[in-house]
Amino acid sequence: MTQDVTAADTRVPLTVMDNHDPELLRELMEAVERVAETGAFTGGSFVERFESAFASYCEATYAIGVSSGTEALILALRALEIEPGDEVIVPANSFVATAEAVWLAGGRPRFADVDPDTQLMTPGTLERAYDPRVRGVIPVHLFGRTADMHGIMALTREWGIWVVEDSAQAHGARYAGRPVGTWGDAGTFSFYPAKNLGAWGDAGAVVTGRADVAERIRLLRSHGEQPRYHHRMIGTTGRLDALQAAVLERKLERLENWNSQRRRIAESLHEAASGLEHIALPPRPEAPADHVYHQFVVRAEQRDALRAHLDSAGIATGLHYPVPIHRSDAFRAFAPEHDVAPVATRLAGEICSLPMFPGMSDSQIERVADALLEFVP
Ligand SMILES: *Cc1c(COP(=O)(O)O)cnc(C)c1O
Repeated sequence: MTQDVTAADTRVPLTVMDNHDPELLRELMEAVERVAETGAFTGGSFVERFESAFASYCEATYAIGVSSGTEALILALRALEIEPGDEVIVPANSFVATAEAVWLAGGRPRFADVDPDTQLMTPGTLERAYDPRVRGVIPVHLFGRTADMHGIMALTREWGIWVVEDSAQAHGARYAGRPVGTWGDAGTFSFYPAKNLGAWGDAGAVVTGRADVAERIRLLRSHGEQPRYHHRMIGTTGRLDALQAAVLERKLERLENWNSQRRRIAESLHEAASGLEHIALPPRPEAPADHVYHQFVVRAEQRDALRAHLDSAGIATGLHYPVPIHRSDAFRAFAPEHDVAPVATRLAGEICSLPMFPGMSDSQIERVADALLEFVP
C-alpha cells in the first residue's frame, strides 16, 4: 500500500473514487447487499426512498430517478412535449450530453456563448442566441457554479418558453438560496461516479414542481406502461436501478459535507495562490450565486505549458472541455459557418482543471498552490 511512501512521492490525482474511503466503502457494500437480498433490482422501495430523499434535499415537489443524466435531459424534454425540429438553446461550453439530449429528443440545439470569467451562459448571451423558433433553454450550472437564474427566468417568461436546468455538476448548489433544479420547469441531475454525488455506475434524476411533467417522466422511463403491459405512450428503458438508489441514498447524507469541503479547498487555493500573474483562478461566486466546485478550472494563455509544469510537479490536470460543443465533429452541422460562440472557442484553449475532491489534504492543496506560484510561462 502507500503508507510508507511520503506524500511528495505520490501524484495529486484530479479526483478520487469511493474505494479511497474504506469506511464509506463498507457502508455502501452493506447497502448493496441489502438490495441483493431482496431480489428487487428495478423500482421498488429503494428507488422510492431515494427519490423522496433527493426531492426533499433539492426542496422539489417531485424527484424521478432515471438511468443517467443524459436520459434525465431527454425525458425532461419529452415530458415538456418538445416537437420535431423545435430549437433549444444550450451553452456551447458544456459536456456534450446537453446538446445530444436535444437532438435525441427530436429538437435542434442552438448554441449560446458564455461569459469569459464564469464560463456560463448569461442572460446577455442567451438573448443574443434567441430566435422566435426557440421553444426552450437549458442553462447549465457548469463546474458547480450557478447560472444567473433571475435573469434567465425573466427572459424565458417574457418569451413564453420552458427551462430545464442541467444541474449534473451542481448537486446542492443554491442560487439566491434556492436549490438548482427548482427554478425552471424541470432540473436534471447525473450521478455518474465522478460527479459531486456519484453512483456505482450510471444513474440520474429529474426534479420538478409540475405534477404533469413528473407523471410523464415516470411513464416515459418505463415504456409508457400503466398498468402492466398497457402502453400509454412510447417510452424507453430509462429507470434508476435499485442498487444505485441504495448507494445514492447513503451518499446523499454526506453530500452537504462534501460540498463544504470542496468550497473550503477552493478558498484555500485562492488564499495560498493569490496574486498570480499568468494564471486566472475561477472567480469566487458573488451573491446570489453559489459554487460547489465540481471542477476547479483555472485559465492561462500558456495553458499547455502550465499543464506540462503541473505534470512534472506530480499534479494531475484535466480539460473540461478541449473542444466546445458547437465546434465538435458531432455538432458542427448544427452551428452556422461563422463562430457563434467565440468566447467558448477561446476558453477551450485556455482552461485547465486542477485536483478537487473531498478529502484532499492540506499538503496536497499546498503542493498545488506552490506549483501554481512557481509557474513561469
Ligand atoms: C455528466 C453530465 C451530463 C450527462 O450525465 P450522464 O449521467 O453522464 O449521462 C449532462 N450534462 C452535464 C453538464 C454533465 O456534466
